Amino acid sequence: MKADWHIHTGWCDGQASPAEMAEAALAAGLEALGFSGHSYTFFDETWCMSPAGTEAYRREVSALREEYAGRLDIFCGVEQDYHSLEPTAGYDYVIGSVHYVRVGTDFLPVDESPAHLRAGAEKHFGGDIYAFAEAYFETVSRVAEIPGCSVVGHFDLIAKFNEREILFDEGHPRYIAAWQAAAEKLLRSGLPFELNTGAVARGYRSVPYPAPEILRWLASRGAKFLLSSDSHAPGSLCYGFEEWRRKGEALGCAFIDAPIG
Ligand SMILES: [Zn+2]
Ligand SMILES: [Zn+2]
Repeated sequence: MKADWHIHTGWCDGQASPAEMAEAALAAGLEALGFSGHSYTFFDETWCMSPAGTEAYRREVSALREEYAGRLDIFCGVEQDYHSLEPTAGYDYVIGSVHYVRVGTDFLPVDESPAHLRAGAEKHFGGDIYAFAEAYFETVSRVAEIPGCSVVGHFDLIAKFNEREILFDEGHPRYIAAWQAAAEKLLRSGLPFELNTGAVARGYRSVPYPAPEILRWLASRGAKFLLSSDSHAPGSLCYGFEEWRRKGEALGCAFIDAPIG
């Protein structure tokens, strides 16, 4: 089934309206399109839907679902940040994501910029970026606690800037131990993982989340994967799906078509 389940719109940090994304999906031959706006995060309103915007988003996607019935199956999901306090009831599915590490009352963004990562490591971890990564994966290990969580979003998001600007060694024993501990806990939850091509589409990485070595490790332990583009504009719908389905299968990955049903 040709589908994309990780889509942002102008209701959060995307560039297009839900209608523009739906039209592009139809033109691209998709059978299903799942919207996944960023849940409201009270501590950082930069990227997320506002509380009022969340209601408008749900109404708009619901109207589109009627409008496109029979041509394109439209679903209303949410990308729920682990630290978000918003309810997840009523969505068709929930992508569980960690975009921040919480230290006391500070929420340190992991995907905003290399400078933010360095500053976070300096301020709270004595400059030890591996300690920051350990705290990140400890939070990721709890994603299954998000009510209604259907899929684990971009598992190793903290490596977003690590190709262009080396911040840490992904082969470091502490980094490996941190992600493996989180992965083991999540595997017990039975949740599928995203194979998320968003950072490839936007030129940050040459490989999707999770990185190939993590993919192979997860696949060998029975994880299931859902292709997603994390699109913030119509041009990247289903970005790299054929290539990464093929490469993922070569690494042993099994794919699911949808985060629901
Ligand atoms: Zn995300
Ligand atoms: Zn996203």
